[in-house]
Amino acid sequence: MKDEYLSKLTNKRITEILLNKENISPLEELINKERHNYNELFNKEKKLDRGKKVDKCNLPGLLAEIKPEVNAFLGVSGIATPNIKYFSFFLGLEYGRLKVKWISPKLCTKHHLGRYVSVQAARDTYHYRTFIGYNYEQFPGAIELSKRLTRLEIIPIIGHEYAHSVQVQKWDLSEYEHIKEFSYLEEGHATGVEKYMSIFYMKKENNSAFLYPSTVKNLFNFAEVYLWICKELGVKYKKSLISDKIHKKLSPNQKGITKMPIAHSLGNTFFCLHEATKGDKIYSDVIHRRFEPGLVK
Ligand SMILES: [Zn+2]
Repeated sequence: MKDEYLSKLTNKRITEILLNKENISPLEELINKERHNYNELFNKEKKLDRGKKVDKCNLPGLLAEIKPEVNAFLGVSGIATPNIKYFSFFLGLEYGRLKVKWISPKLCTKHHLGRYVSVQAARDTYHYRTFIGYNYEQFPGAIELSKRLTRLEIIPIIGHEYAHSVQVQKWDLSEYEHIKEFSYLEEGHATGVEKYMSIFYMKKENNSAFLYPSTVKNLFNFAEVYLWICKELGVKYKKSLISDKIHKKLSPNQKGITKMPIAHSLGNTFFCLHEATKGDKIYSDVIHRRFEPGLVK
C-alpha cells in the first residue's frame, strides 16, 4: 500500500476512529433524526409511489441518466461506463470464482493483466431484508442488479454501484487491498452517493418515496454501529432510541451480540458522522484526496 492518503482510511483506521465515546452523542442524534424520518415515511407507506420494475433494455439508458449526476456530485469526469444488467443464471458460478480469488489474491492479481472491480448489487426492501450478490468482471466492471427491484429502488442502487466504478478508476488500489483493507471506505462512500441520488430524485420527481430505502438503511446501519460501540466501550445504550420494533428487526450480529457490524454499516456511519458537521462535499473530497478523517466534534 503506497498511497499515503488512503492509508488514513483503512478498515483498521476507521474502526479506531469509530470506537470512541465522543461518537456516542452525535450518533444518538443521527438515530433520532432518522427515526423521525422513518416514522414520517412509514405512516405514509401505503401511499408511497414505488414505481414499476425497469425493463432490462432500459437499464443502460437509466445508467446514462444517473451517471452525469453522480459525476457532478463527485466532481469527476472521463469515467468509463460499466456494463449494467440483471443477475443471470450464472451468478453462482461468478460468485464461486470471486471466493477462489479471495483465497488466492496474489495468484489472481498476477493472473489477470487488467484491473478488476467487484461490485455489489444489493436489494434493500422496505423492511430491510437485504440480498447481496457479487459480480466480478474486467475493468471497468459490471453492475448486476436483482430483477425484483422497482425503479424507485434501483435508481439509488445504480448510483451506489456506479460510485464503486468511480472509486476503482480514481483510487489506485490493488484487487487484494480493495477487498481486504478498504471495504468500509468503499461501502460508506458508495452509500453516501446512493443517499444523494435518493434525495436528487425525490426533488426531481417530487416523490418522497425515494427517501424510504435510504432512511431505512441509515436507521438500521446507525443502530447496529451504536449498539456495537456501546458494547465495546462498556456504555449502556439508550433503550428509548432503539425501539422494540427496530430491535426485533435487527439480527444478533446487528445487535452487536456476535461480531462486528458489516462493512456497509461501519462505512455509512463513519461518513454520516462526518457529513453531519462537514456537509456532503466529503464524498467528492474523499475521491480527490482532500477529506481528512478524524473525530467529529
Ligand atoms: Zn457497495
